[in-house]
Amino acid sequence: MIARTAPSVHTTSWQQLLRDAIRTPDELFHALGLEGHPMAEQISAHQEFPVVVPAPYLARIERGNPEDPLLLQVLPDVAEMQLTEGYNSDPLSERDANPLPGLIHKYHNRVLLTLASHCAINCRYCFRRHFPYKENAPGRQQWLDVLEYIRSRPEIDEVIYSGGEPLAVNDQRLAWLSQQLSGIPHLKRLRIHTRMPIAIPQRVNQELRQWISASRLQVVMVIHCNHPNELDTDTVNACKLLQRDGVTLLNQSVLLRGINDNVSTLIELSERLFAAGISPYYLHLLDKVQGAAHFDIERHQAIALIDEMRTRCSGYLVPALAQENAGMKSKTVLG
Ligand SMILES: *Cc1c(COP(=O)(O)O)cnc(C)c1O
Ligand code: SF4
Repeated sequence: MIARTAPSVHTTSWQQLLRDAIRTPDELFHALGLEGHPMAEQISAHQEFPVVVPAPYLARIERGNPEDPLLLQVLPDVAEMQLTEGYNSDPLSERDANPLPGLIHKYHNRVLLTLASHCAINCRYCFRRHFPYKENAPGRQQWLDVLEYIRSRPEIDEVIYSGGEPLAVNDQRLAWLSQQLSGIPHLKRLRIHTRMPIAIPQRVNQELRQWISASRLQVVMVIHCNHPNELDTDTVNACKLLQRDGVTLLNQSVLLRGINDNVSTLIELSERLFAAGISPYYLHLLDKVQGAAHFDIERHQAIALIDEMRTRCSGYLVPALAQENAGMKSKTVLG
């Protein structure tokens, strides 16, 4: 018998890794030896916000452990189907700040572009799980309108690539857009909010590094890492390459019940991020999106956690505890 070996993630392109991602709870249970999971049947029946787990992320989940903190971020929970008061489908009222398809302008100097309608991993707590991405998947003419919007507003000095997952877009389009933005004189920075270095670190390839290096703008990448186990060698190496290209690396996390809601996990996360050259930026309180209430932490508990963290580690390892409130001119920092 010839042993079949799975293709190595090291030789597979990011596009292939994304195409081959696990997309059903059953596949996920099978890959992790969890076929006997007590909720397997109910979870498999629930498909409103689909499962997406790429192989590099799967590899960091412990087999046979239904409580693994990475698994809990990607496995649907029957609790998602409960309607909870105070949680809704657009907790940040982003639809009010969406003047053009693909553009969210909520804060004075910076605009956010929703570049991709999908992600390389689907996180169950995601506040964008109900966002009307289909109405926000602009074509070329609409991107020209977005560029005109930015060009005509000199107060805008920073553009944020967001999504979905902005790095799920191919490099040819990203390079074109970044080049257009470089030509707008009042822009200073290009910021990329991405979970790709965690989900598929192979995304940090030559093509990506090329357009990033070519940009006149200062490039900041805000990685989205919630747990120290999410940082493996491939992710750390990808970050080192970006740093070599002059990219400033920051991290934002979401405070999640049962996943990272204790001081030792938060400190270990900050320590490992910093060792990889990534500065902790924000620790977000969960946005009150319907279907994610079971991840939420009370505000006073979150403040106690961050205060405790501050007594136990260096100031620059403590992220700002932040909350986004609809209608405010910035995020609110607590604690
Ligand atoms: C979070 C966010 C930003 C960036 O805010 P910072 O505090 O600068 O990180 C910009 N636009 C929108 C719509 C946001 O949600
Ligand atoms: S990668 Fe970000 S936008 Fe995509 S599902 Fe996860 S949290 Fe949401």
